[in-house]
Amino acid sequence: MSQSRIIVIGSSNTDMVVRTEHFPQPGETVLGNEFLMNPGGKGANQAVAAARLGGNVVFICKIGDDLFGESSIKLLKEEGININHVLIDNQLPSGVALITIDKKGENNIVVAPGANAALSVENIKDLDTLISTDTLLLMQLEIPLNTVKQVVLDAYEKGAKIVLNPAPACELPEEIYQKLHLITPNEKEASMLTGIQVKDINSAKEAAEILIAKGVKNVVITLGAKGALAIFNGECLFTEAKVVNAIDTTAAGDVFNGALVVALNEGKHIKEALEFAVEASAISVTRLGAQSSAPYRNELESYQQ
Ligand code: ATP
Repeated sequence: MSQSRIIVIGSSNTDMVVRTEHFPQPGETVLGNEFLMNPGGKGANQAVAAARLGGNVVFICKIGDDLFGESSIKLLKEEGININHVLIDNQLPSGVALITIDKKGENNIVVAPGANAALSVENIKDLDTLISTDTLLLMQLEIPLNTVKQVVLDAYEKGAKIVLNPAPACELPEEIYQKLHLITPNEKEASMLTGIQVKDINSAKEAAEILIAKGVKNVVITLGAKGALAIFNGECLFTEAKVVNAIDTTAAGDVFNGALVVALNEGKHIKEALEFAVEASAISVTRLGAQSSAPYRNELESYQQ
């Protein structure tokens, strides 16, 4: 099994979650139920998912000089993630997400990105020393878009394989498409990037073809409880999601992405890699939380040494 490095560059947040009967109207105060504080942020979630599934993960993010940042990083270290390149901002606080969930399971989220928004390309100059031709680099869009763009352009020159999970949805600079080894939007993100209303296998295939035409080498579109569609090395494949009793889909996409890069980094064929990612994300939706819902490798049926 290949143990080459997976570098994840992205956000780290602390999710503060309160359950409530109903959302407050403007000016209204409601008494909620229990309060939970969980580590989150798409970057950190994907790094944890990849590490639990056997990836040799280096995580780069920016936190504030505060207790939230310190505690998030401590947890990442306990997951066996290399945190030697985590940056600390002396002015901005660590990222925080305020999440309210009502009795129907709908959520309202306000993110204060804090230090995540100050992760600049200058901050990660030492990336040069980390990236080699067998490096797989995974990014999302919860850090500044310009940082993502510059890192993609630089890492591509050094021969890294770049995987972009374009979440949350946002227009991408045209010049980065050709540098991406793989892009992994969900339905909403794929719709936004292509103008196709992605809602099923056929529309996902159409959207994936548009992304390939823009220059991306490979595409995987996740379709929630339906599964995932890929166009990989020119081959189109669809893998159905597992039927499970989903109780919390938070971070399903993050677990899927973490799992997918681990499998691809081990040289698995895309068919096997999709099955691995579908299985890992199905386990995660049967559990509460973001990072805490990510499964360990030995929990997967498709676990192979
Ligand atoms: P999130 O924003 O909730 O983290 P996402 O919108 O980025 O997720 P989805 O497409 O919803 O990503 O889900 C990613 C993968 O997780 C799907 O391709 C599927 O394999 C799995 N998944 C999601 N929801 C379910 C579900 N209800 N049952 C089984 N598997 C699911």
